Amino acid sequence: MLSRDAILDELGIGPAWRLRETASVAQADAGPPALPSATDGSPPPASRSPLTPWDQLADAVAHCTRCKLHATRTQGVLGVGDRNADWLFIGEAPGADEDRLGEPFVGQAGKLLDAMLAAVDLRRGENVYIANVLKSRPPGNRNPEPDEVAACRPYLLAQIELIQPKLIVALGRFAAQSLLDTDESIGRLRGRLHRFQNVPLVVTYHPAYLLRNLPDKARAWEDLCLARRTMQTLTTLDRSPLTASRSPQ
Ligand code: URA
Repeated sequence: MLSRDAILDELGIGPAWRLRETASVAQADAGPPALPSATDGSPPPASRSPLTPWDQLADAVAHCTRCKLHATRTQGVLGVGDRNADWLFIGEAPGADEDRLGEPFVGQAGKLLDAMLAAVDLRRGENVYIANVLKSRPPGNRNPEPDEVAACRPYLLAQIELIQPKLIVALGRFAAQSLLDTDESIGRLRGRLHRFQNVPLVVTYHPAYLLRNLPDKARAWEDLCLARRTMQTLTTLDRSPLTASRSPQ
């Protein structure tokens, strides 16, 4: 896995102190702004506040011009939820509602996603983070294009690096295929465990697809059960004295 610093570096948002009021649109996408250094040994003056990596990531997504979608979107949609979540759900891209409101999965598909979460005793925002492969809406809800996926990939990698989820659930064919870099059908990808950036990953149907294909809800339920069993195993392993990381004595 790329280190957190390498990912943030690629985004041009390496750790830095900066005056909040000087963060400009142009700076955010052009790379690291010329900022006062935190390494000169002096404590930062009271008027400066340190931007956390999450602040920097949100700022970079808000002002991103890495692909053509910036010209048509209303806003970048970074993600929502618990930034220390064990569960990371990844969809395709913001739709019209998400583009307007700035939060993933807020339309009809989002309601179904919330119901899917509830089915395995999860709630949006509680140990769950929700993101998309693309942070900007493709116009007219067309499919994301490869250059857009490539341009957005560092943001997703940075999110994963910051969240450190135990398990990823890929929602739908597009998310699954682009995360796993495959053109296998969702029917073949679901039902087994994969890995993305060394994080275990389960594939299930996209809630928007399920709204149109009700019989596949039963399969989605099986996928969620696989995800829940996997999480239980991972949590048990984490707690085991044989596998838990111990500080040196
Ligand atoms: N579909 C997605 O894949 N993501 C959203 O945020 C909304 C709909």
